[in-house]
Amino acid sequence: MDGPAENDFCSVCHGNFNVPCQANCSHWFCGNCILLVWRHGSTFQPCKCPLCRRQITLLVPTQASVSDRHNPSVANTLQQLETYNRLFGGRTNGLIQRMQDLPFLLRRLLRELVDPQRSLPLVIRARVYITVKSLRNHASNFGSILYLS
Ligand SMILES: [Zn+2]
Ligand SMILES: [Zn+2]
Repeated sequence: MDGPAENDFCSVCHGNFNVPCQANCSHWFCGNCILLVWRHGSTFQPCKCPLCRRQITLLVPTQASVSDRHNPSVANTLQQLETYNRLFGGRTNGLIQRMQDLPFLLRRLLRELVDPQRSLPLVIRARVYITVKSLRNHASNFGSILYLS
């Protein structure tokens, strides 16, 4: 079944689903609602499901929302959901993906640095460090391949 149950409603806004997406705990939310819940806490940590408190590591939009991508506000929500999944999806990201994430991570890092209200979790500093380090390793591997050949 692609989509929430017919009589179901978003537990965040208590309304009908707008760009519905399903979390890995199987609960459904409006895309924007669950993104709001996420931003309410630290940007660099996955949010917890408001219903079952499980950590959300994946937000999957319905096929219907994906095919509604020509609508700019839907496209915007989908893009943020993708970013969320990339950050917390737990799968090993490809190098290209990591390079794409890096500007986002650094931007958020800066924003959290200038905003003393927000805490800066160590985990995100580590994440940026690992990304930069893996890029550098990759470059040096490339260098040694060139050297050997
Ligand atoms: Zn909602
Ligand atoms: Zn849940």
